[in-house]
Amino acid sequence: MAIAIAIASGKGGTGKTTIAANLAVALAKFGKKVAVLDADIAMANLELIMGLEGKPITLNDVLAGKADIREAIYKGPEGVLVIPAGVSLEKFRRANPEKLKDVLKEIHDLVEILIIDCPAGIGKETLIAISSADGLIVVVNPEISSISDALKLIAITKRLGTEIIGAIVNRVSNESTELSIKAIETILEVKVIGVVPEDPHVRKAAAFGTPLVVMYPDSPAAQAIMEIAAKLIGVE
Ligand code: ADP
Ligand code: MG
Repeated sequence: MAIAIAIASGKGGTGKTTIAANLAVALAKFGKKVAVLDADIAMANLELIMGLEGKPITLNDVLAGKADIREAIYKGPEGVLVIPAGVSLEKFRRANPEKLKDVLKEIHDLVEILIIDCPAGIGKETLIAISSADGLIVVVNPEISSISDALKLIAITKRLGTEIIGAIVNRVSNESTELSIKAIETILEVKVIGVVPEDPHVRKAAAFGTPLVVMYPDSPAAQAIMEIAAKLIGVE
């Protein structure tokens, strides 16, 4: 059965795009047919991490009614289907987010797992992505502002009736000022399904436009993301 997972956080910069891209590739490494879509249509950067920048037709062309979704799907690392949103401001201006719902349904039908990289905040694209998805993964950092924003996102997700798969705590460096995993679970009332450490390999891989799990598979963050992927699909 096909499943769509929205990756969101409320707060900006928590690592949604990093997790979405690498989780998609990690799941493909386990043999799953996966697509990853950039729902951050204003500040698209999934394509940069996946090494697919500058594609002529993108999600924003589809949302503007100027192209068919099939023209905006590109094959990325490990055969992951990538739907970039494109960096053109002009195209973003013409895009109609209301069309996102139908687009998500069409892609959902093509793969086993669809990962949706959401924008920060709780704007239209995030709400459409979460209500269209089967489940939400909330990406947090171990700090109170991130947890506070995640709480709002979780409340909205419950109201929309979408399952909350769990939280991923990203950029953990075990400093004394950080919130503990236990404290995060208690505050959010959500299970932590993965802990990804602060890891300089993340930025290095991004600079090369290659997903971390491909470029530095043995790095601590890549290993953590592979573990999350394994857990999601029930691989021991
Ligand atoms: P978001 O999509 O939530 O805005 P990004 O995935 O774009 O967040 O990440 C924001 C920044 O943090 C990027 O520069 C990224 O390379 C960096 N980053 C994300 N996760 C980690 C990590 N585990 N270790 C180090 N840097 C990270
Ligand atoms: Mg992002």
